[in-house]
Amino acid sequence: MKYISTRGAAPTLAFDDVLVTGLARDGGLYVPDSWPQFSAAELCRFRHLSYADLAEEVMRPFVAGSIDDASLRTIVHGAYRDFGHPAVAPLKQLDQRLWLMELFHGPTLAFKDYAMQVLGRMFDHVLKARGERVTIVGATSGDTGSAAIEACRDREAIDVFILFPEGRVSPVQRRQMTTVAADNVHAIALEGHFDDCQDMVKALFNDLAFRDRLALSAVNSINWARIMPQIVYYIAAAVAVGAPDRPVAFSVPSGNFGNVFAAYGAARMGLPISHLLVGSNRNDILARFFDSGTMAIHGVEPSLSPSMDIQVSSNFERLLFDLMDRDGAAVAATLSAFRADGHFAVSQGQLAHARAMFQGHAVDDATILARIAATRAATGEVIDPHTAVGLETAVALGAEIEAPLIALACAHPAKFPDAVAQATGVTPVLPPRLADLMERPERVDVLPNDLETMKNFIEDRVGGARR
Ligand SMILES: *Cc1c(COP(=O)(O)O)cnc(C)c1O
Repeated sequence: MKYISTRGAAPTLAFDDVLVTGLARDGGLYVPDSWPQFSAAELCRFRHLSYADLAEEVMRPFVAGSIDDASLRTIVHGAYRDFGHPAVAPLKQLDQRLWLMELFHGPTLAFKDYAMQVLGRMFDHVLKARGERVTIVGATSGDTGSAAIEACRDREAIDVFILFPEGRVSPVQRRQMTTVAADNVHAIALEGHFDDCQDMVKALFNDLAFRDRLALSAVNSINWARIMPQIVYYIAAAVAVGAPDRPVAFSVPSGNFGNVFAAYGAARMGLPISHLLVGSNRNDILARFFDSGTMAIHGVEPSLSPSMDIQVSSNFERLLFDLMDRDGAAVAATLSAFRADGHFAVSQGQLAHARAMFQGHAVDDATILARIAATRAATGEVIDPHTAVGLETAVALGAEIEAPLIALACAHPAKFPDAVAQATGVTPVLPPRLADLMERPERVDVLPNDLETMKNFIEDRVGGARR
């Protein structure tokens, strides 16, 4: 399998290079040069597989030539072995036509574990084969950082440094990063805001000498290996409710557009998907795009679903590439105009193409709380605020849809206890394996917002670990 850049001016790469490189050299995102295809007969056969066995089947064509079958099997089965539910991504039926897919049974209780657990192991495998190491550096406002830390702990070829804004992540989120006792894991509370963390990470990457010396690498969702494992749960859920004999629809709470792009990938591979509903919170840039065909930045406001508080959805570029008939130069020109002007528009034909599958819907905080309360009253299920966005979107847009409609439960309610308590009067409790999280000893370094201090800190820690 070969991968090409959405901006058409970077070298074509094999999977292992895409994994380690992340962002393409022309600023674009890597996508497969063609989508592997599953026939109806193969999809029927998938009904009988365990989640890990299905994951192997789905990912094998994407990593062909880079990771051999036996290693892939070890990686995938290791990734999902310790998940908290035997089905890994179980479905719950809410009413005759509406389902909830629970994606919070991984170690950090949000869907990002499903890809990150695979990615960490793939990094380790590829790097060991090459005799290399990397230093992963990332900024987080919550879920990504803890998922990355859990995925990289105890991996021999990786040191991981996660920066979060001091005092600005929830206690559960902080402790998921600071209570991991592994020598290669470094949680850093930066004296600043999330934007300062992101700027700091960018500055580290822009110092090319430092970047090369430490072999810096990133695990944000622009990395193709973050998208690929997410395709699996769409296929697993669809075949469980009747695909390929009938089409299915999904409702996906979206921020960076990575998760819902994986659903689109599943459709491109032959899964019959009739609708993809894209749920936004008050930061509704995606919902406005699917209504109007214009992507326009309005600034970002905090909401009850913080993992979806985004200004620009970086993974949308992958869909745009297809909408523009895979013309990388056109994508590059559109996105550079977007950077300059804060908006761009697609043609009516391109919008119609997108709307053949996608619809957007925005949900404000009051409606999130109402949906959490209504869901508990109607079904007994306690859902988190991100899940509420997807479920509300399913209810708002679902009346016209005949297919089974699967809404994604992207985080465990105990990750966002305040909003859930506000809506229901009940504070959700952490699952047993994390019950003592609030008592575990923390290990964190508080650092000033200063580039030289950060560089020295990272260099010291990496040097120490490698001696
Ligand atoms: C990351 C995240 C999202 C947004 O997913 P994207 O892939 O960025 O669209 C939604 N909900 C939760 C709980 C998340 O952690």
